[in-house]
Amino acid sequence: MKQELKQQLKDKYKIFSDIHDANISVGDGWYDVIDGGCLLIQEYLDKNTDIAVKVVQIKEKFGEMRFYYDGHGDHYVKEIVEMMEKATNTVCERCGIHCGKKINKVGWLKTMCNTCYDLNLVERAASFKDYANK
Ligand SMILES: [Zn+2]
Repeated sequence: MKQELKQQLKDKYKIFSDIHDANISVGDGWYDVIDGGCLLIQEYLDKNTDIAVKVVQIKEKFGEMRFYYDGHGDHYVKEIVEMMEKATNTVCERCGIHCGKKINKVGWLKTMCNTCYDLNLVERAASFKDYANK
């Protein structure tokens, strides 16, 4: 994810700690899913000050987002996180379009639309070429 988008999330929501920088390593396309979920969690925590949650890591595994946090999130927080994670199964991780699907080629499982998958292949090929020419 672009640094500016990561910073927007960190600036908007107190569930991102100022002290321990959360590691966000997913594509820009999932920004809206994360933004929506964080808004719900933050609003809930603002009303329930006995619950403390800090985001630790947001990553991708098998084409689905994984959202890890420290603290004792209750049932509601768990449900929001699960909803976000499930939502990423149909959202292109690269462009955010809602017709992403799991694409598995050569052991590489990603949720992307066809256009982004093709673009990604072209970019990967180009970066291998750059590497080979060095
Ligand atoms: Zn896409």
